[in-house]
Amino acid sequence: MRLLFLGPPGSGKGTQCQLLSNELKIRHLSSGDLLRASVAQGTAAGLEAKTYMDKGLLVPDPVLIAMFKDNLSQENCHNGYILDGFPRNLSQAKSFDDMLSNLHQFLDCVINLEIDSEPLTLRITGRRVCANKNCLKVYHTKFNPPQVENVCDDCKCELIIRSDDKEDLVKVRLATYFEQTQPLIEYYQLKKILVNIDASQSSQNVFNSILTTLKELTKTH
Ligand code: ADP
Ligand code: ADP
Ligand code: ZN
Repeated sequence: MRLLFLGPPGSGKGTQCQLLSNELKIRHLSSGDLLRASVAQGTAAGLEAKTYMDKGLLVPDPVLIAMFKDNLSQENCHNGYILDGFPRNLSQAKSFDDMLSNLHQFLDCVINLEIDSEPLTLRITGRRVCANKNCLKVYHTKFNPPQVENVCDDCKCELIIRSDDKEDLVKVRLATYFEQTQPLIEYYQLKKILVNIDASQSSQNVFNSILTTLKELTKTH
């Protein structure tokens, strides 16, 4: 199964993709995680990306397109994948369509996490992520706390705050989303593969809604 998640920063894409990746045993490809890994490695692309990420702006398209071309052709993506954060503007979506047709693939479903802007600041400023690059599990100080403060339940590594999860950057990131990413909702609606999910519910309820949607989808396929 090949899935794509849309939704504003803080809507729960990472959380739901991690749950779904475990459930369906298919790869979760998060553009943000991949970019942060290149930043940590200090590659040329990573250093360039960081200047945009620190400002809440989109990293230039060629960086993302090269990154996803490379990842999607890898063997661990052959039985499906869940995309989180890419494509994030219309030009990336068109390049992604080209990648899919070159690979003779199609998307099964685009899941759009719908939520008002109001709760997003609290979700983003309380976000904590596992520092272990092979884990990266997402937590929240209030809404999804770890069993032991600041320690990952799964791998026992330290939890950290992302450098861009600051209140003053949230406004810019949301503006970037509304201007550049929101048009993708209509783009995929026109392709008749978009499903809206109410992302204001608890994570568990959101997850159950997604599973129900995917079950319906496999019935009708
Ligand atoms: P969030 O879901 O909270 O917005 P992400 O981890 O998806 O955060 O993204 C963090 C940052 O990485 C973005 O603010 C942007 O600078 C960059 N980024 C992620 N995905 C893309 C993309 N597809 N195109 C351009 N920049 C991206
Ligand atoms: P995104 O990838 O869309 O930016 P995340 O999955 O990282 O979003 O979630 C942002 C923050 O909100 C995290 O701290 C996460 O634990 C928390 N969160 C995710 N889903 C929910 C939910 N349904 N209710 C409350 N908090 C949530
Ligand atoms: Zn961990």
